Amino acid sequence: MNNEAAIAYFSMEIGLSNDIPTYSGGLGILAGDTIKSSADLEIPIVAVTLISKKGFFSQDINNEGKQIEHAVDWDPSRFMVRLPKKVEVQVEGRSVFLQAWCYTVRSIAGGEVDVLYLDTDVEENTKEDREITDVLYGGDMQYRLKQEIILGIGGVRMLRALGYHIKKYHMNEGHASLLTLELLLLYKRDVESVWDENWIWDADRVKDLCVFTTHTPIEAGHDRFSYDLVQKVLGEIIPLEVLKRFGGKQYLNMTLLALNLSNYVNGVAKKHGEVSKNLFPGYEIHAITNGVHSFTWTCESFKRLYDKYIPGWANEPELLVRTEIIPDEEVWEAHIQAKSELVDYVKKVTDIKMSPDVLTIGFARRFTSYKRADLMFFDLKRFLKVCEKGRVQIIYSGKAHPKDTPGKDIIKKIVEIAKAINDNVTIVFIKNYCIEVALKLVSGVDIWLNTPLRPREASGTSGMKAVHNGVINFSILDGWWIEGHIEGVTGWSIGPKPVESSLIPVSDATDAEDLYYKLENLIIPMYYNDRGQWIRVMKNSISKLAYYFNTNRMMRRYVTEAYLR
Ligand SMILES: *Cc1c(COP(=O)(O)O)cnc(C)c1O
Repeated sequence: MNNEAAIAYFSMEIGLSNDIPTYSGGLGILAGDTIKSSADLEIPIVAVTLISKKGFFSQDINNEGKQIEHAVDWDPSRFMVRLPKKVEVQVEGRSVFLQAWCYTVRSIAGGEVDVLYLDTDVEENTKEDREITDVLYGGDMQYRLKQEIILGIGGVRMLRALGYHIKKYHMNEGHASLLTLELLLLYKRDVESVWDENWIWDADRVKDLCVFTTHTPIEAGHDRFSYDLVQKVLGEIIPLEVLKRFGGKQYLNMTLLALNLSNYVNGVAKKHGEVSKNLFPGYEIHAITNGVHSFTWTCESFKRLYDKYIPGWANEPELLVRTEIIPDEEVWEAHIQAKSELVDYVKKVTDIKMSPDVLTIGFARRFTSYKRADLMFFDLKRFLKVCEKGRVQIIYSGKAHPKDTPGKDIIKKIVEIAKAINDNVTIVFIKNYCIEVALKLVSGVDIWLNTPLRPREASGTSGMKAVHNGVINFSILDGWWIEGHIEGVTGWSIGPKPVESSLIPVSDATDAEDLYYKLENLIIPMYYNDRGQWIRVMKNSISKLAYYFNTNRMMRRYVTEAYLR
């Protein structure tokens, strides 16, 4: 560990590798990719998160398609170093102690970034308090608030105890916003000001220190706590009326708290920036479009290809703009290699045989209603008719949050449909979606499908992983795809173009019809009859999309636009 970092990156979840299961989905993977690119670019950053010793959960799916959740038990000491420092925070009026585990991310280019995993499982604490950092997004609102106290307040205290001199605090989503209160207190102590007179001055000082990235495009998605609960669990660490001024009158809204105490705020795609401005009128909200870590999300066969023709690509993904120089046959060979590996993997884990010669569609992400994983089956008869045009096989994967019953129902529905149309179309569901499975899928299918309900997909990142492997996107125009899509050139859209007021709903029927139409008339015919054109779109996906939608580009923007402000 070295404590020279000047930027602290706070995230409730971080997904760095399959061995460290402290992530649930896109937010955590983005955090992991952010850290990896920071190491590539030697940005002086330290990350702070929770140890989540029981992980999110590991997923089983039974024969009926029911999701069964198991706690994950993993041992941090296998991967990280436990630091001797302990700090103390107040929870429900008690002292709760926390320690940190340090994991160092090393870039192939030589840079290093430390990640601090906060942990309340120490002997000074009661049994209940030792479990605060067990389950990611587990428990009730009270448990969540305790976790956010550990992350926000405990995190700042731990950094100070370890000797860091932090100049910017970056909150990745609102879960960490309580850190702003700790900073307010620190500066209050520094100047010994009186709240009533000087809170504005204090706030300006804190704002200069804070950067906030919001990820949620709808009101209901933002964490909020009743002030009764806040009083009980957090206590009145700053006067309630001051807290309400920053965090909202009726509830403590974690997004509002971060918005009011950050000088730089951004959404994660251009469209999402606009949507966020409408949600929170009066705030200046910028946009820095997400990316993925190129080296992590490129499969072995494409890594070899890029190494051969575009050396230096991993640290400087912009170079992928030169993909044109790679011969078509070699692009196709690399793809067939990845596809065969996926087919083998599917056979191994499901005992279902797929064919590397059949057009393969992939869909994998968190299972929750707005992602509409079942849109393809909106009109089952019509879908089967489309598949007569040329054979299609589909691979699904993804977890539903344990409390998300509609999300679980969609998994069940897909498993049932898979059985029902088994004779016509092969559909598999791979259980326990994780980083390892994600890489196999985003590199081994031909088409990456995304069908969210607009404007709910703040950015989406799995499609960016796909393009690093020459896999073609077929998606609703929402999130990043609005910026990446050129019809027929970099992939295909589904449904109408985005309009200014994206709140005008598009019916499932309209979107499904366009999906069927393009699959039947453009995608299936091109895949089976015009391989040259197909490879052209694959190469365009790499040269026009992967070269841009990566976290190395994204982090350069955070440095110049947010951190160095
Ligand atoms: C990339 C990734 C996600 C996010 O996918 P989206 O398409 O952005 O929703 C979720 N889970 C895992 C394991 C991933 O690798």
